[in-house]
Order: sequence, then C-alpha cells, then structure tokens
Amino acid sequence: MLENMNEKCAVVGIFGHEEASKLAYFSLHSLQHRGQEAAGISASDGKKLRTIKDRGLVTQVFDQNKLSTLSGRSAVGHTRYSTAGDDSILDAQPVFARYDLGEMAIVHNGNLTNAKEVRDALIKKGAIFQTFMDTENLIHLIAKSEKEKLLDRIIDAVQRIEGAFSLVFLSRTKMFAMRDRFGFRPLSLGRLQNGGYVVASETCAFDLIGAEFIRDVEPGELLVFEEEKAPQSIKIYEPQPKRCIFEYVYFARPDSNIFGQSVYETRKNMGAELARSKPVEADMVIPVPDGGVPAAIGYAQESGIPYEMGIMRNHYVGRTFIEPTQEMRDLKVKMKLSPMVDIIKGKRLIVVDDSIVRGTTSRRIVRMLKEAGAAEVHMRISSPPTTDPCFYGVDTPNKEKLIAANMSVDEICEYIEADSLAYLSEEALLRSVNAVDESYCTACFTGKYIV
Ligand code: SF4
Repeated sequence: MLENMNEKCAVVGIFGHEEASKLAYFSLHSLQHRGQEAAGISASDGKKLRTIKDRGLVTQVFDQNKLSTLSGRSAVGHTRYSTAGDDSILDAQPVFARYDLGEMAIVHNGNLTNAKEVRDALIKKGAIFQTFMDTENLIHLIAKSEKEKLLDRIIDAVQRIEGAFSLVFLSRTKMFAMRDRFGFRPLSLGRLQNGGYVVASETCAFDLIGAEFIRDVEPGELLVFEEEKAPQSIKIYEPQPKRCIFEYVYFARPDSNIFGQSVYETRKNMGAELARSKPVEADMVIPVPDGGVPAAIGYAQESGIPYEMGIMRNHYVGRTFIEPTQEMRDLKVKMKLSPMVDIIKGKRLIVVDDSIVRGTTSRRIVRMLKEAGAAEVHMRISSPPTTDPCFYGVDTPNKEKLIAANMSVDEICEYIEADSLAYLSEEALLRSVNAVDESYCTACFTGKYIV
C-alpha cells in the first residue's frame, strides 16, 4: 500500500527515571513509523515543565544539547503525521499549558468524534484556541473544570469527550495515561529496569529501552503515576472494546505485540487464510515491501509456493520536491520500489499486499512487474476491500477516493491491470486475529461505525 492511509501519531510517557527525556526520545525513535511530520517531548523536573517540539523526524528535532535541557524524572513524547494543510508547528505535540493549578502537557493519539461540539461550546464561553487539534479541547476542559484536584479535573474532562483517544498527561509531579472506553488505539504499560514505568503506543518502544511489558492499558482505564507508588488504576468507563483491526493489517510494527498478540504472527495468519481461501497456480509468492512481507510469508508457507523478494524497497527516498510529470507518472513508485528483474522474469507471480486504498499504487506496481518481464501478476490482499473512511485516528481519503467504495473486485482487477485479484474476507480476517467476540472495529471494511 505504501501511502494513502496513515496512522496519525504515537504517544509515549516515561515516569520515575533520571533520564526520562532520553528514554522518551529512544521510544519515539521506535515509533517513528506512526508519524514522520513532527516530534516533541515535554519533561518535568518536579518544579517546571519544559517542551521542545518541531517539524521533522525524531532525529532531526532532537540532539544531545536539546535533550540535556529536558531534565527531570518524567517525560511525555509524541510523533505526528500531518494531514494536508495542517502541518503548522502549532499543531505539533505535546500541547503545553499553564493554568490555575500549575503546568501540564498532553499527548494524544486518536480522533475525538464530538470535538466540534465541545470546541463550539468552549468558544461560546470565551475560550480562545490556537490550533485545530482535538487535544486543545482537553486543555480547556481541564483548565475550566470546577473540580479542585487535577485528577478530578482530568476525569471530568475525559467524560465530556467521545471518540478514539489514547492520552498521556504530564503535570509537574504526576503522569496520567488513559484509553477511551472502546480502546480503538493501542496503549501498553511497561516497567523500566530501574523500577520506573513507561506507557507507549506500541511495545516495540519497550524493547529498545529494555523495558518489560506488563499489560495493555485497558479500554476506559485511567492510570495515575506518582513517585514511590505503584500505578493507580481507575476505571472511568465500563470497557466496550472495539480495537482497530487495521493496526494488525498495516499500522503496527511487526515486532510489536498489539492488543495482546504478536503483529507478525497475526499477519502471517492473514497470509495463510488468504492462501487457503484464494489459491492460484503460480511460480512464486512475493510481497509488496514492507507491509506485505509477513502475510506473503504466511501465504507461501501455507501454499507451498516458494517465497522470494521480487521487489526491493528503497528506504531512503524521503520527500522529493520534484513531482514527476504526467509522462513520468510511474517514476514516483519506482523511486521507492524496484523489481528484481532476474528473479521475476518469465514467472507467474502472486503479489501480496496489505490493502488497496486508491488503487493507483497497485496499478503502478503491476505495470512495473509486467514491464520487468513477469508472465502473470496475481494480486492477493491480506484485508477486505477498504470501502469506508476512518473517524478514529487514521487519516483516510474520503469515500469518493476509496477505489473499493466505487468499483467491484473485478473492476478493480481490471483497473490495476492484474491477471487476478482477491481479498481476504472479513470472517477470515477476524479468524486471523483470533477474535472471539465483536471486540474489533472493522468500520473501514464494513461501514459499521460504533461511535
Ligand atoms: S475504521 Fe478502520 S482504521 Fe479506523 S479504527 Fe476502525 S478498523 Fe481502525
């Protein structure tokens, strides 16, 4: 898939470690795949919060000198994906504010579905907003709450918001972490080697900093971190889990454990299900890197058809300011992906990808493989057709631009110029993630929105 659907961000919180901001930095580095437009860290030394944030990758925003100014035993961090037109530095996180109880910084992954109503009501009461971020609503709700203690104000604020949120709040002396009642976006809790704690969007952040996974923050749960105390768990809502199944399909890193399961193994399950339900005669199975790799391995192992790397990915492309002209329209994908001509020439290929969003990238890949001499190209997609946009923290094109919302599978096959095309069914996807109940959100495949 490569592009068109993007996780909006990653969050991390470190509590009870002398080098909290450095651990937050390394954690964000592991979570860079969830957002490459901006990065930021706020740290507290118990008296004062300091924040650094800017556009760019984590390694571009921070260096040794900057990190050394973020002293203290607690820190929260964020990496951000920016949608078109809102890549202002003001919209980078953490969001920092001074209010009557002191200072706070908030990082947020998700989308509030009642953000506009909340914002309009706050503006009517005189609030002034500096950004378009949902997160700023929370700052105002906390600042305006009539409760006396910060904890009570946070509870008051989160009870007024709806939608998808994995949040981490930092005050001068405490840290708070919370997931919405549906648990759309992941958030895991780990223990640092010195006895401190970490919360992060994915467990791959724990591995780099040597933290031990404890458990996921439960949907509807608020965790309170204080020095010298174990984290306090407060149930704000009865959990009604609707975990984002697309985390398994595409967003999460394969070395993470999301919602209690290995992402890599789950993707292999999807490939095996695809091989059983959508077989085709071919000489080799190749992935569209990187997203299609585990599912292609699963497909190959189940079908007995050899697995090969038929496409190489260039990881160093970054952003280019030279837009290819119409005549050079396939250049964009070729800059990222190159066919292994000697491997694929004359071969019947099964090409496994995680999803098709607009269809343009898939068409370019099929063309590229045929130009390189492939005899046949059979596309196999390890998720159902993406027919509906996401309102829970994932940036998706609107429905008119989603090819599966506007064409049948046969029409898409013709459009992408493949010899055959097949998707994983919703039932097989749910089997792949071992879903035993209706605890997953599948709205972008079904249009069945819970909120
Ligand atoms: S609509 Fe799709 S991407 Fe959004 S939360 Fe649900 S499963 Fe995930």
